[in-house]
Amino acid sequence: MINRYGWQFYHWHIEPSSKCTVKCPRCPRTEFPNTSWLQKELSLEEFKNAFTPSFISEYVQRFTMCGDVGDPIYCKDYLRIVEYIKSINLLAMFILLPMVVTRKKIGGMNLHK
Ligand code: SF4
Repeated sequence: MINRYGWQFYHWHIEPSSKCTVKCPRCPRTEFPNTSWLQKELSLEEFKNAFTPSFISEYVQRFTMCGDVGDPIYCKDYLRIVEYIKSINLLAMFILLPMVVTRKKIGGMNLHK
């Protein structure tokens, strides 16, 4: 899979959840409160359908799991998606709000390979 400039896709930025209640001052969710922001979470099944092992082996070298206008911590399947990525032995970067993440919440997972 190649973008319009002829570069191969390899680093995928995924937004696991478009939900958030934090209201950071410069966030579009806060600056445009009357916008009907999507309120959705990515399920493990949706992720697996989009990123099959064969697709990943051909087109993915790295995932960044971060929100643009949502926080991944609101995704119920987040840890299962992380486990799926790790089972394929891929490098993944996980960006969460530190105020809502505890060791207990991430289940003591070693997120670094
Ligand atoms: S989506 Fe991100 S930037 Fe926006 S309020 Fe939530 S944490 Fe802050």
